[in-house]
Amino acid sequence: MSSTMYDYDLFVIGGGSGGVRAARISAGHGARVALAEEYRMGGTCVIRGCVPKKYMVYASDYGHKLDEARAYGWTVGKGKFDFGRFMSRMHDEVSRLSGLYMSGQTGAGVEVFEDRAELVDPHTLRLVGSGRTVTAQRILIAVGGTPWRPSPAELPGVEHTIDSDGVFELTALPRRMIIIGGGYIAVEFAHVFAGLGVETMLIYRKDKVLRGFDDDIRDRVQQGLIAAGVQLVTHSVPNRIVRDPAVWLPLEVSLDNGSVVRADQVMMAVGRRPATEGLGLAAAGVETGAAGEIVVDAYSRTNVSSVWAVGDVTGRMELTPVAIREGHAFADTEFGGQPRTMDHSTIATAIFVQPEVGTVGLSETDARAAFGDIDIYKTDFRPMKHVLNGSAERVFMKLVVRAADEVVVGAHIIGPDAGEMIQMLAIAIKMGATKTQFDETCAVHPTMAEEIVTLRTKSPPRQA
Ligand code: NDP
Repeated sequence: MSSTMYDYDLFVIGGGSGGVRAARISAGHGARVALAEEYRMGGTCVIRGCVPKKYMVYASDYGHKLDEARAYGWTVGKGKFDFGRFMSRMHDEVSRLSGLYMSGQTGAGVEVFEDRAELVDPHTLRLVGSGRTVTAQRILIAVGGTPWRPSPAELPGVEHTIDSDGVFELTALPRRMIIIGGGYIAVEFAHVFAGLGVETMLIYRKDKVLRGFDDDIRDRVQQGLIAAGVQLVTHSVPNRIVRDPAVWLPLEVSLDNGSVVRADQVMMAVGRRPATEGLGLAAAGVETGAAGEIVVDAYSRTNVSSVWAVGDVTGRMELTPVAIREGHAFADTEFGGQPRTMDHSTIATAIFVQPEVGTVGLSETDARAAFGDIDIYKTDFRPMKHVLNGSAERVFMKLVVRAADEVVVGAHIIGPDAGEMIQMLAIAIKMGATKTQFDETCAVHPTMAEEIVTLRTKSPPRQA
């Protein structure tokens, strides 16, 4: 397996979730592995994504918890949030994790270059910082994605905005924040900032956020944003941003609906793109798609026989656990003698709005399109905890069932800890559980999750 013709058996570009997993497992299988990371070990998830974002979600949720505690008899003074102290603790934790990612690699025998690597040809890489050239029998590209923003020609003044990377570098809370977009990142950060007391506006180009999700979830997330105090502007996009540092809210955003709004921070959350620019893909002959993504097959093979790619850079599913599994499958296939592919079906996901969304499988609309006859079971209730504390927050649960064989093909939850619930539910749905098997499962009482096994009445289909 090992070839002395090359410096390494495997060279991984990118120290994020997919890359480190592939490198560590390949080294464990006996391969001589090197990995290059140009920024910080851990990649998007650890450094400027899932992990720090979730800490920000926790931070903003504590404000609600203080109010709830009062209703439960606690005397709680007027809470005050110290953004600087929180961010410093959060960055310390991110640094700790990044260190663990590094030691995990070196401990597994992976040689790590803290440098940018670019392809020179199908077996050769140039380390940009050191100028060194190395060769590898196999190259795995796991460079992830990067926030996308329109060009200054498309949106004059866009240089005055930040993106999700910029959020983690803020040194002070904005007074007023405008977020552009209606995907995961936009809705999660709208809740974060609103929860931290920032006047928050979300501007979305269509009618309803979270395109592609179940419509009942989309309705409720939209209502939830408004309930959290987010000012929601739909059917609008910015067409000019002007900065005047002399005024209290220095950014003036003109919208295509004719209105003008002001803020001291504008965040663009309009999607991410594969980070393939300047990577040398053309030099190595690696094929890319329309958005710059690396085209791969089920085994993460590119069109070049010595080059593979995993994670966000492939544009398959931009989720950390997916990248990890793709990387692991690659390592087992190429170095472990256990060829296997990643199963991309029925992957659960959570959106950390407040309260959370947990979703797995098909939406009602997609299930109807796929199977025709489906049954819907829904419940919408006030959780026990909130009955006592007066919160108006509700829980919504929905099962999508294929009528022909009663198999549950989708589950959608919005409520506290929905992300935790959906992970468990995903096991049953992945196993092909039927509605009858859900019904036969005895409830855990008193919990919110018990409702999922006590749904007995079919709901009418949603009207389009
Ligand atoms: P998304 O692609 O999910 O959403 C982009 C949003 O921006 C959409 O609402 C889109 O509108 C809108 N948009 C796109 N182009 C423009 C434009 N030119 N002008 C105005 N609006 C525009 O991207 P995100 O950046 O939110 O997230 C990227 C990915 O990261 C997600 O798909 C997800 O896989 C991953 N992620 C996962 C998280 C999790 O698991 N909790 C958290 C955060 C990210 P439209 O709907 O009309 O296309």
